Amino acid sequence: MKKLTLLVLSIILFIGCEDKVVVREKVKTMIRQNEYQKVAINYPITNYKELDEQIKKDVDHDYQKFQKDTKSLSTPSEFNLSYTYNILHERYMMITLSTMIQSDALEHTNNSIHTYVLDQKKEKILTLEDFISKEELKKIMPLMKEALLSKYKDCIEMENFSEMMAPNFDHFSLFTLTEDYLILYYNPEQLTIGYEDIVSIEIPLDKIGLRIDFERGVFEEEHETISIPEKVIDPNKKVIALTFDDGPSYYTDQILKLLQKEEVTATFFLIGNKINRYQETVQTMLKNGNEIGNHSFSHKWLTKLDDDDLQEEIILTQDTIKNLTGFTPRVFRPTYGAVNDDLKHQVNLTPIMWTVDSSDWKIKNANTIANRVLESCQDTSIILMHDTHKRSYEALKIIIPSLKEQGYQFVTASELETVKKIRARAKLDA
Ligand code: ZN
Repeated sequence: MKKLTLLVLSIILFIGCEDKVVVREKVKTMIRQNEYQKVAINYPITNYKELDEQIKKDVDHDYQKFQKDTKSLSTPSEFNLSYTYNILHERYMMITLSTMIQSDALEHTNNSIHTYVLDQKKEKILTLEDFISKEELKKIMPLMKEALLSKYKDCIEMENFSEMMAPNFDHFSLFTLTEDYLILYYNPEQLTIGYEDIVSIEIPLDKIGLRIDFERGVFEEEHETISIPEKVIDPNKKVIALTFDDGPSYYTDQILKLLQKEEVTATFFLIGNKINRYQETVQTMLKNGNEIGNHSFSHKWLTKLDDDDLQEEIILTQDTIKNLTGFTPRVFRPTYGAVNDDLKHQVNLTPIMWTVDSSDWKIKNANTIANRVLESCQDTSIILMHDTHKRSYEALKIIIPSLKEQGYQFVTASELETVKKIRARAKLDA
């Protein structure tokens, strides 16, 4: 009876630290106890083969090392392996395994950590290099050094420290991401003397140019049929945003096909009352990676409406798009480019104006339209066009290849905002 009580107690003790973890996946648990050894192992089974194999390998390695180090000892020892599990942006799976070894024969507690980041969409284990560039890493090195030196000032081992702080991704293999931070870990012996716990530093994400999915509005979970393809944008290279107003129309499909063939994406500011006539077109827009924005329900002069009518113009369009696709736009384009503080205040969407007007609504010749656009384009330009004319499509056949040749990356309105933010941040930090 006494033995049973002891065992139950030790289970509570060993897995007590697990109660905060939301375990959605299966957990592999092993609890063992004999005269000298207490062993508690908990690790997740994720059902991603490569990841499960890697985790199993690391667990086995740690456990065998413990056995090797303590088996011949006739003094009490403990091995405790636990984990945390998190999903970020419904896509990245973050797992950390923490091993703690205690033994009377050891001078101190031995802590170590393993981290895993899985891209569930690509079913691929990611390294820090998948998230930040080497240049970016170099940029954040001073931040890291400063944070480490102030947090662990009495126990940093300076010789290892200088070596570990070289901007080499091998030295930053232990990491995880949260909504707001990149957290880097080190096992204590990597950086410190006489320190037992895991060494960690948190770097605010707004200090780093992270390669993470660019925000393009919010998808409802029940509409999983439309998935936006992935895209990599280099914020250091020229970007341009093609935008189309007043559609969808009879010509939109042609334009979508051309964009797809050229492998570029754009933003379509839709008029709500036209959407249900072109349902498939609007779905294709999203499927091909384009962004959809709000251009009112019936193209009224929005600054001239009272608050209720204005809300109706915006909300009806949001609802129509959401009901059809599951996607809720986050950007809007004011009709006639007319915007005032009241409108900005009333409409809870980001207004997107333009910097290059193609005038395709009044110029009848495709070449003239194309030349007009190409003459005025520069980095971060937003081009205003309309997917309601054949000539706009013809002009695009000239505009897109020419801009591509000049090295422009075609981004959507939201992506352009993000690129600008990243650049502004980089400038601040410089
Ligand atoms: Zn318009």
